[in-house]
Amino acid sequence: MPYRVLVTDDIDAEGVALLAAEPDLAVDEVPTLPRDELLARIGVYDALVGRSATRISAELLRAAPRLAVVGRAGVGVDNIAVDLATELGIAVINAPAGNSVAVAELFFGAMLGLVRHIPQADQSMHEGAWDRPALMGSELRGRTLGIVGLGRIGGEIAARAHAFAMPVIAYDPYAGDARFHALRVRRAATLDELLSQSMVLTVHTPLTDETRGMIGARELGRLAPGAIVANLARGGIVDERALAEALRRGHLAGAALDVYTTEPLSVGHVLRSAPHLVLMPHIGASTVEAQRSVAVDVCRAVRDALLRGELSRSINAAPADDGRGGDVRPALMLARQLAAVGRALLATRGARAIDRIDVSSGEALSGVSDALLAAAALGVLAPVLAHERLNLINARALAAARGIALSTTEGAAEPPALEQGAAAYSLGVRLTGGGQEVTVSGLAHPATVSPRITGIGAFDVDIHPRGTLLILANRDVPGVIGRVGTVLGAAGVNIAEYHQARLAQGGEALAAVAVDGTVGDDVRHALLALPDVHSATVVPLPTE
Ligand code: NAD
Repeated sequence: MPYRVLVTDDIDAEGVALLAAEPDLAVDEVPTLPRDELLARIGVYDALVGRSATRISAELLRAAPRLAVVGRAGVGVDNIAVDLATELGIAVINAPAGNSVAVAELFFGAMLGLVRHIPQADQSMHEGAWDRPALMGSELRGRTLGIVGLGRIGGEIAARAHAFAMPVIAYDPYAGDARFHALRVRRAATLDELLSQSMVLTVHTPLTDETRGMIGARELGRLAPGAIVANLARGGIVDERALAEALRRGHLAGAALDVYTTEPLSVGHVLRSAPHLVLMPHIGASTVEAQRSVAVDVCRAVRDALLRGELSRSINAAPADDGRGGDVRPALMLARQLAAVGRALLATRGARAIDRIDVSSGEALSGVSDALLAAAALGVLAPVLAHERLNLINARALAAARGIALSTTEGAAEPPALEQGAAAYSLGVRLTGGGQEVTVSGLAHPATVSPRITGIGAFDVDIHPRGTLLILANRDVPGVIGRVGTVLGAAGVNIAEYHQARLAQGGEALAAVAVDGTVGDDVRHALLALPDVHSATVVPLPTE
C-alpha cells in the first residue's frame, strides 16, 4: 500500500510534483484547512507537508497515529510541536538553505536603491517632477564591502560583490581559511579591522549573545564617514537607536534594514523617520524562487525519509541506546560538552575556526560513533550557527559543509566500573584548528551517575560539568586559588567545584572551576588581571 502524504498551505507545484511522481506515494493536496477538519483527516496520513499557516500542534500529532514525517517548506519550525514529535518518533524536516540567494539579491537591490536614490526618483516622478540634479548618485564599484558572518548568505553576497567590482573583506572567526579562499574574500582578524576598512558593512550572523548589539554606537563610529550599513539578518545585531542617530548626524551615508528587534516595527518607531534609510518589512525570503526552492527541498527530503528511511535531514530524532540496551544519551551530552570546552579553549588561544573533530571512545560506544561525532560537532557549532534547530541529526552534515573534517579513533581504554558496578563510557574529543589542537576527555555512565570531565589537554582533572566551566591557566605558586575565590565571591559567582591540576611543582597549572549560573566578561577580565593568571576561558556548558 502506498504511503499517504497530505500537502497543504499552497506548497509550490514543483515540490508537489516530485512527490506525486513516486508510485509508492499517494498525495492529497488541499488548501490550508481549518483546525477541526485537519484533525478529522490527519489520522490516515504518513506524512504532512506544509508551511507556517498550518499549526502542527500536540493535539494534531496525537490524532495522527500513522504520521512518520512532518515537512516544513521554510526554516522556522515554531508552528510545529517538535518536542512532542521527537517523543512520538515523528521526523521533522525543514528547508533552511533555500532562501540565501533571495536575501543576497535583496541586499544588492537595497544598496543600489540607496546609492542611486531609486525610491526618491520613483516617488518624485509619480509626483510629477523631473528633478535630475537632486538625484545625483554614486557607484558601488570600488567600495570595500565588509561582511560580518561568511555563512550561506554572506557567501552568496561575497560571490555577487565581485561582479560589482567591490573588494570584499569579512569577519567570521568561526569560518576556516578554505572558505575565505574559495570565496576570494580577505579575512579581517577582528571586527575593528573590518570596520576600519569597510565602506559598506553588512551583517549575516545569527542573533546570539555574541552578536546581539554587536554593531553599536562605538562600532558605527569606527566606520569611515559616508559608509553604508545593512542588516538583513536578525533584528538587534545592529543597535537601532545608534543607527538612527548615526544617520541623523550624517556620519553614515545610508542604511538598509529588513529585520527589527520587534516585528512588526511600531508605527512611530525612531527608524521610520531616520534619513537615508531603506526600510523593508522582513521580505528577505519572499521570492517565488525561494518558496519554490524550499518546497522542492523539503518534498525531496520527505520523499527520501518515507521511501528510503533517510533521516539525515530530520531536525529531531537521535539514537538513544548503544544497541545493547544501554542509554547513550549521557555520553552524547558529554561529547557535546567536551567539544564545547575544547572549542572555547582553542578560541582563547586565538584559533576560532575548527578544522577537525576527532572522537575517541571505548568499545561500548562503537555502535554510536556517528552520533558521538554529531554530538561533538553540535558542541562546536551550536554557539555560532543560525540554524533554528541544529541537532544531532544534522550537525555532522553542517560541520562537513563548513569544511570541518570528522573522524573517530577506536579503542580508547575502557574505564573501570563505577560505584554501582555498571560500566562507564570513556570519551575523548580532540579538536584541531589554527595549527593547534586540544583534547578534552571524560567519563559518562549509562545510568544516573553524573558524567565527569577527566582530562583537559595535558592536565588530569575531575569535575562534574554543570552551568558554566571556568578554565584558568596559571603559574603554580601559592595564593592563586584564594585570589580567584575572592574575585568570584565578590562577583556573587558560586563555586560548585574547584579542581587544581599541575604538571610539575612551580610550573604551569590549570584550574577547572565549575560554577552555578553565568560568568560575565567583567569577571573574566578581573581574573585575567590577577598576578600569575595567564588565561581565563569561560565555557557555558550545554545541559539539554
Ligand atoms: P549561516 O548559519 O549559514 O551563517 C552564519 C554565519 O555567521 C556563520 O558562518 C558563522 O560562523 C557566523 N558567525 C556566527 N557568530 C559570529 C560572530 N560572533 N562573528 C562573526 N561571525 C559569526 O546563516 P545564514 O543562512 O547565512 O543566515 C544568516 C542570517 O540571516 C541569520 O540571522 C538568518 O536568520 C538570517 N536570515 C534572514 C532572512 C530574511 O528574511 N531577512 C532570511 C533568511 C535568513
